[in-house]
Amino acid sequence: MLEKKGNFNMERVIQEFDEVTRNASRVQRETLKKILEENGDTEYLQGLGLRGRTDIDSFRACVPLVTHHDLEPYIQRIADGDTAPILTRKPVTSISLSSGTTQGKPKYIVFNEELVHNTMQIYRISYAFRNREFPTEKGKALQFIYGSKQFETKGGLTATTATTNVYRSHQFKSTMCDIQSQCTSPDEVIFGSDFLQSLYCHLLCGLLYADQVQFVSATFAHSIVVAFQSFEKDWEELCRDIKTGVLSSRITNPNIRNAVSAILRPDPELADSIYRKCEGLSNWYGVIPELWTNAKYVYGIMTGSMEHYTRKLRHYAGRLPLVCAEYGSSEGWIGANVDPLTPPDSATFVVLPDIGFFEFIPLRGMDGCEHAEPIGLTEVQVGEEYEIIMTTFAGLYRYRLGDVVRVEGFYNSTPRLKFICRRNLILSINIDKNTEKDLQLAVDEATKLLLAEKKLDLLDFTSYADMVSDPGHYVIFWELNADAKDEVLQSCCDCMDRTFVDPGYVGSRRIGTIGPLELNVVERGTFRKVLYHFLSRGTSVGQFKTPRCVGPANRAVLEILNEHVIKRFFSMAYY
Ligand code: AMP
Repeated sequence: MLEKKGNFNMERVIQEFDEVTRNASRVQRETLKKILEENGDTEYLQGLGLRGRTDIDSFRACVPLVTHHDLEPYIQRIADGDTAPILTRKPVTSISLSSGTTQGKPKYIVFNEELVHNTMQIYRISYAFRNREFPTEKGKALQFIYGSKQFETKGGLTATTATTNVYRSHQFKSTMCDIQSQCTSPDEVIFGSDFLQSLYCHLLCGLLYADQVQFVSATFAHSIVVAFQSFEKDWEELCRDIKTGVLSSRITNPNIRNAVSAILRPDPELADSIYRKCEGLSNWYGVIPELWTNAKYVYGIMTGSMEHYTRKLRHYAGRLPLVCAEYGSSEGWIGANVDPLTPPDSATFVVLPDIGFFEFIPLRGMDGCEHAEPIGLTEVQVGEEYEIIMTTFAGLYRYRLGDVVRVEGFYNSTPRLKFICRRNLILSINIDKNTEKDLQLAVDEATKLLLAEKKLDLLDFTSYADMVSDPGHYVIFWELNADAKDEVLQSCCDCMDRTFVDPGYVGSRRIGTIGPLELNVVERGTFRKVLYHFLSRGTSVGQFKTPRCVGPANRAVLEILNEHVIKRFFSMAYY
């Protein structure tokens, strides 16, 4: 029997997905044809001499690989009010701001109805697969989602984050209802202008509707961790609000106050039960299932730069499974997680062959093969790493996204991708090359030494290549949950230095052209300050990813970090 809930038919969604993934090669050809038929007469494509051809060979022969930098002048004209079909025939409805946490400033990306449609498509697919493993009942979701600030471009288009553009779309609400994912908080909380007030009210509304909550989620895992770190501090105040039916005076935003007060009634029984449960917890382990007893899982992006937060998330989630959310970007979606039982460290994403046209640049060990020719979606090899190239319905043609993925296998005839890292080398002084993944490995190794000490944990980290000192060296910033002994931190510092095994690094360290790695421990709360810095510049908390490397353009972040250093260690690894 077909599983049908409201407007959602789980079996049909899975059947359709199976159909397109079985015929991935044909579907890719057709998808490219559709994109080019729709947009062939845009200024950008016309200028490349395609002359109405829509086949893959002509497309590759005429259209160059580009980066965001190459498209900036076109996007800028659109933002400035040029309504001619420059990149897409369909109107551009707004501008998305990609988080740009590595470059230090958000990138402008074209947003149109196609992206809303694609988002709903991928939400439905991943929900269908999730629901097959963890069936939900009629209910809601405690979602830590936040609309971000918006502004008007010179040409009158709204510019905000891609997620905010999606939350504002009329299809968002109805899809969320269809897939039992309606947020427990009213819109005023999601779109509130003060992050801390919205966060408090998300927690409060989540507690008020606790019985109905089917899962707890955020776009990125980091937001869930931040939410429960706040809960650890604010739980008694939340209980007080529920007991008295009066919203805390910390909520000063009138829209949020009115909307939340309208659903808050004195409920001493609920307040006491929450209080008792919180008191009974040991170091907040399992707080989510304890308070949200009907929740089936915790859901969000937990891969890539979010991997670091899964340990803390597991702690809060207790017995509940952590389910990885889909893979995409402000530029467009790529793949869905169709194996919700797979833990975050081995999660893969199955590419949707009808969501865009995908090509892959073979990387083979990230060096040497810079000029390798891109290959098609179904031509990739298991075990190999690639950089993704996207062609979308939203005006990107052979666009280098900058992500590196590894093919872990196939689902029907479309690849399952594991996210590896951002392509850009993030740490490099001279001939050394280290990526985000290499940094993560070094930090993971050193964290093992830290975790061996009871009650010590690494809350967050970032890095920076200090080229000003002579010799240049890597600087790593750590924020810890508690004080650590100097001997332990010194051995962590040495361990990180040794774990960067890139031959260029090792060689340079040996001959002293790269100096000893520096570990700076920062005061508790420093990474919150970094978060607030990005929020003040228009990044939404839901989209925020701690930059794992602070580039020279990010002087403000570097200043925040440097101002709060409480301990400094230099590696003794190569003595
Ligand atoms: P933004 O455009 O700011 O939303 O950031 C998009 C980038 O976030 C992608 O290009 C990836 O580098 C990263 N990202 C998005 N989804 C995932 C995922 N599921 N796993 C790992 N990284 C992801």
